[in-house]
Amino acid sequence: MTGTVDVINPATEEVVRSVPLTSAEETDAAIARAHAALPGWRAVAPGDRARLLRRFADAVDADLENLARLEVTNSGHTIGNARGEAANVRDVLHYYAAAPERLTGKQIPVPGGVNVTFCEPLGVVGIIVPWNFPMPIAAWGFAPALAAGNAVVLKPAELTPLTALRLAELAREAGIPEDVFQVLPGRGSVVGERFVTHELVRKVVFTGSTEVGRRIMAGCAERVKRVTLELGGKNANIVFADADLERAAATAPYGVFDNAGQDCCARSRILVQASVYDRFLALLEPAVRGVVVGDPGTEGTEMGPLISAAHREKVASYVGDGAPVAFRGSAPEGAGFWFPPTVVTPASPDDPLVTEEIFGPVVAVLPFADEAEAVAMANDTEYGLSGSIWTRDVGRAMRVTRGVEAGNLSVNSHSSVRYWTPFGGFKQSGLGRELGPDAAESFTETKNVFIDTTEHPHGEGNQ
Ligand code: NAD
Repeated sequence: MTGTVDVINPATEEVVRSVPLTSAEETDAAIARAHAALPGWRAVAPGDRARLLRRFADAVDADLENLARLEVTNSGHTIGNARGEAANVRDVLHYYAAAPERLTGKQIPVPGGVNVTFCEPLGVVGIIVPWNFPMPIAAWGFAPALAAGNAVVLKPAELTPLTALRLAELAREAGIPEDVFQVLPGRGSVVGERFVTHELVRKVVFTGSTEVGRRIMAGCAERVKRVTLELGGKNANIVFADADLERAAATAPYGVFDNAGQDCCARSRILVQASVYDRFLALLEPAVRGVVVGDPGTEGTEMGPLISAAHREKVASYVGDGAPVAFRGSAPEGAGFWFPPTVVTPASPDDPLVTEEIFGPVVAVLPFADEAEAVAMANDTEYGLSGSIWTRDVGRAMRVTRGVEAGNLSVNSHSSVRYWTPFGGFKQSGLGRELGPDAAESFTETKNVFIDTTEHPHGEGNQ
């Protein structure tokens, strides 16, 4: 143990709990225990591993309201969102419970014999989670990793360890061996770094900022270690003149202010065709002013506080005096890291409001002339994670989605993540894909075995 961290309720600024921080030595010991548990976990028959994952899912389901309430105090998420996030963990576990029985490998007839492939578990997998979605992001890593027969060490963010710790208890109650799934609250520079540098950790799954992600990738490269990176985003919500403007405007606040904008998929740039720009802004204003900001534990609240005082300061620095603020929504006064939903209309595409990931409830609205310009503006960013296209023209929808360099796009919707489909970024938004039908396989190593079926008494023919 290297001290403790106080978990602060972002809506009240009260200390919820003090959590011990894992030291480098304790991290090494946990990795060694995970490694030692691998043969036993690997020996669990696929059907039994599937049953354990389903029991884990059932335990999450039975604890759903408790997990959701815990998340409200852990991270300031609205109770409605937190319930959805706990349900997502349950569903992702059920989804990957089907994987152990399907990771069957292939048999490939070849001249002189047959090749048989096996999906071998990688070993110990290190998962590093950010503070903005503590439960789902953890599950997107641990569910497929465990299904594929790996042991998992997971580091939640310093600010939000409580729900991950509860998930580890539920896993144990469900019968997942303690050393096969361990949650190690601690600092990135201590626990996270050990995941990268420790030779027994065979893969690092990192979700967080692009800056830290680069560093992790460099560390993994030095050790030829597998790595998945889910990083930042500056996503475009493109609204064409022929779109259902009422619907596009009414749902745009959800697309960017959900989770107080602390969402890598937040549509923090709204690009609107110039001919309907003024009308769209007029429709957007009441929708933004109508966002219910307040106590995240109250039913019906749509937006809670930011995660911390420091983060609020960072967000506020973008919209200080002289910022091109068009209008704002409301925010409570008093204790809590509140920030109002804010709409800005920068004149230049080089304004940091347009180019930088603010990770708060601030959205830039900009006009574009035509389809080509919309695609060029959407792509004028180092990121490429998600985005939306609003149009009634299906041909245009397909042309624009093919033109935008991003991993996850929606047409006439702000939906980003559906766990049975792949999720991940282009460019500086990441590397690799999580979720979807192939995720469990990404936690395996392919072993290829040739079986010679020819008769060759003198031992020839083994090319
Ligand atoms: P962060 O990069 O500061 O931290 C993420 C995690 O990495 C934390 O657990 C932290 O402790 C750990 N960490 C920090 N330094 C480390 C190091 N040197 N070695 C190993 N681990 C280290 O990010 P954050 O502020 O917690 O989260 C916000 C960022 O995450 C935003 O940029 C957001 O876009 C991104 N994000 C991306 C996705 C996605 O799926 N693409 C999802 C959620 C968040």
